Amino acid sequence: MKIGCFRKQKETFYGLVDGDRVYAIADPFLFPEPVPGDCFPLAELELLAPCRPGKAVCVGLNYRDHASELGMPLPEEPVIFLKPSTAVIGPGEPIVCPPVSRQVDYEAELAAVIKKKARNVREEEALDYVLGYTCANDVTARDLQKKDGQWTRAKSFDTFLPLGPYIVSGIDPDSQEVSLYLNGVLRQHSSTSRLIFSVPRLISFISSVMTLLPGDVILTGTPAGVGPVQPGDTVEVVISGIGRLVNRVVLPGE
Ligand code: MG
Repeated sequence: MKIGCFRKQKETFYGLVDGDRVYAIADPFLFPEPVPGDCFPLAELELLAPCRPGKAVCVGLNYRDHASELGMPLPEEPVIFLKPSTAVIGPGEPIVCPPVSRQVDYEAELAAVIKKKARNVREEEALDYVLGYTCANDVTARDLQKKDGQWTRAKSFDTFLPLGPYIVSGIDPDSQEVSLYLNGVLRQHSSTSRLIFSVPRLISFISSVMTLLPGDVILTGTPAGVGPVQPGDTVEVVISGIGRLVNRVVLPGE
């Protein structure tokens, strides 16, 4: 099942995507078994971010290849941080480089979208709380991350969380190929089979700290090969079972 969020004229709605058609549905978080309604050609709709999370919970170091690239030992438990809801943008929306940073990096990541309220969830039942998965770019002002010590500023600028294009259910979160293309050149390529902490482990761990609500997203970390972007660049996060999330990089006011 592929769920998107769309705009037609001034109306915003969720829809099930079937080829080049979109069937409008009620809120997939309130009604997890959606009933298809009105049908529209996909090409006539504006595609928005597939959810508006109350919070995005992200994991620091979570790929074996990224750990060895950095020469860091594998963490014993997930290191988590938050990105604010106001950082979210959708497919095709520009990533705006803040003038205060001299190094803005891409980070391709698989994101799990929470379906229902989750608190103290056991690993064995964790996937029952997932509506589906989408592509994410954990855009980071790397220089500010190092300078501040705390990661909040570096991770939280407006437009620093592209999500999309769709929420896809029924895929295996342990066997997705994650790639990033910068101006068409492959820069990151790995598989979620190389995650240090699996999606169920992350949901269990995070839900023991904070309650996860419908629409919240969990970013599962980025593989090796992170690097900087410049204004004018095009960044694409591609996940095998999901699709392609494309965003341009711009300066403020462009
Ligand atoms: Mg990240």
